[in-house]
Amino acid sequence: MILVFATNNQHKLEEVQSLIGDNFELKSLNDIHCTDDIPETGNTFYANAIQKSHYVFEKFQLDCFADDSGLEVDALNGEPGVYSAHYNGTRNAEQNLQLVLDKLGNNNNRKARFKTVISLIYKGFEYFFEGMVEGKITNQRSGNKGFGYDPVFQPDGYDITFADMDLSEKNKISHRAKAIEQLVAFLKAQS
Ligand code: IMP
Repeated sequence: MILVFATNNQHKLEEVQSLIGDNFELKSLNDIHCTDDIPETGNTFYANAIQKSHYVFEKFQLDCFADDSGLEVDALNGEPGVYSAHYNGTRNAEQNLQLVLDKLGNNNNRKARFKTVISLIYKGFEYFFEGMVEGKITNQRSGNKGFGYDPVFQPDGYDITFADMDLSEKNKISHRAKAIEQLVAFLKAQS
């Protein structure tokens, strides 16, 4: 059964394909020749995931899912949130991370979480899956693995950041891994 993952991130695609098994053949936006710049103008992760999955479904009439993720910092009223990828107006991850550190300053409340929301359109119905990892923003960067805000995000129960962790370790606890786990469990139950 063909299922579109509304992404062009080949790494994400392969990761989910390896978890889903052989009953579903995942296709990326490239695979279905969708080169449109799909709008992502929502105020919430849900709104953005819905926007992407609906866009693909309406245009291609194919079962599909889309994800949206980001970092929420309590002392910044949930920012950068849906603006995580371009918080300072650019897509420069290093500058976006610096802006979070600057805005937080010496604030003692450094509580934060990563969230992922997946919107799936399957056989005419829509389903949602959510993953979350709680933690805190460190005062200084640590580690050189991962991407985005990983060097300043320390998950609860650890004394290292996501950027200090091997990918396999991050994948056991990450927001994205948890959301995907639920999606995969749902799809396996359907087949
Ligand atoms: P996306 O929706 O998965 O593309 O994520 C949007 C943005 O959120 C990314 O560009 C990153 O800035 C941030 N982000 C999402 N997941 C992670 C993560 O696992 N580590 C660090 N930053 C992340």
